[in-house]
Amino acid sequence: MQFIDLAAQQARIRDRLDARIASVLDHGKYIMGPEVRELEEKLAAFCGAKHCIACANGTDALQLALMALGIRTGDAVFVPSFTFAATAEVVPCMGATPVFVDIDPTTYNMDPASLDRAIAHARELGLRPAVVVPVDLFGLPADYPALQAIANDEGLSLIGDSAQGFGGMINAQMTGTFADITTTSFFPAKPLGCYGDGGALFTDDAETAALLDSLRIHGKSTEKYDNVRIGMNSRLDTLQAAILIEKLAIYDDEIKARQRVAEAYTAALYDCFVTPHVPEGYRSIWAQYTLGAEDGAARDRIMNSLKAKKIPTVVYYPRPLHTQGAYVEFPRDPAGLPASEAAARRVFSIPMHPYQSVDDRSRVIAALTIES
Ligand SMILES: *Cc1c(COP(=O)(O)O)cnc(C)c1O
Repeated sequence: MQFIDLAAQQARIRDRLDARIASVLDHGKYIMGPEVRELEEKLAAFCGAKHCIACANGTDALQLALMALGIRTGDAVFVPSFTFAATAEVVPCMGATPVFVDIDPTTYNMDPASLDRAIAHARELGLRPAVVVPVDLFGLPADYPALQAIANDEGLSLIGDSAQGFGGMINAQMTGTFADITTTSFFPAKPLGCYGDGGALFTDDAETAALLDSLRIHGKSTEKYDNVRIGMNSRLDTLQAAILIEKLAIYDDEIKARQRVAEAYTAALYDCFVTPHVPEGYRSIWAQYTLGAEDGAARDRIMNSLKAKKIPTVVYYPRPLHTQGAYVEFPRDPAGLPASEAAARRVFSIPMHPYQSVDDRSRVIAALTIES
């Protein structure tokens, strides 16, 4: 059994992928070929954002967003601790200070009350609160209405880290449109992944979009060898764009299939585990289906027992960032981050992808119900 079955997806669209790849080999425009623009237009249309700028990966997307907002030394950037390292990593890269915020224990997403405390603490430390970076963890959109209200009150910008959440919704609105700038990743294992590294940014602001377009290509102006600012080399390969165009064509269908898997899991497991909480009006795209065990010992026992039955499970994330060597010195919510620490001890993710067979699903559920 696979944790994520990328081969099943590939088999479904292999002919179309082959044709798209062959077409790139024929025209030979490997850098910024026509597929890049085509993909950007399709991604923007998919989520309802006005502009999409593709780039080399989801980490660069976050850094490009910080660059576009002019983030520098002395700025505080508020990030959750219970996330992948890239969310925080790009902040010191810009000379700024990440300030860690706790999560809501039911959604695993940034806790607005903790953000309030972290902002006040950053001011006490003499930092300038500048940006909030909520993460759409496991595919569930962050609490953008509450976080946006705080950002407005405090005069902060919002960058949505939707590396796991592209396609998630709150009411009729999709990720890509909630924050000033939204970033995503096309790492192969993400819900919308390519066959290598890739990423993208979304914004409704034409000026920001033009700035991001310049920053991803060495700070270019409209003339190629007139660089007007310090940028990066962070383009999406034409081949990856070509692959993503075909994957995006079936993405909506795959999100629905993920939803069916999640519903079956929750119906079978809500009695025995802490099953994922999706607030009213929200749609998760189920980048992960994550369960909470009673405690760390129970989690170890359950994961070992599933491993013996060749059922893969993974812990996202075993250590919150504020406890990791590279990040221990950075400031955090002065009330501590108890929800992040508890989640790191208790959660584990089980096989989740759009092509899961009913048979595999039954095996996962049976193994878990025996263990609980
Ligand atoms: C995967 C991920 C990233 C980084 O994306 P890459 O394309 O691997 O650079 C950033 N943030 C979160 C939350 C992620 O899950």
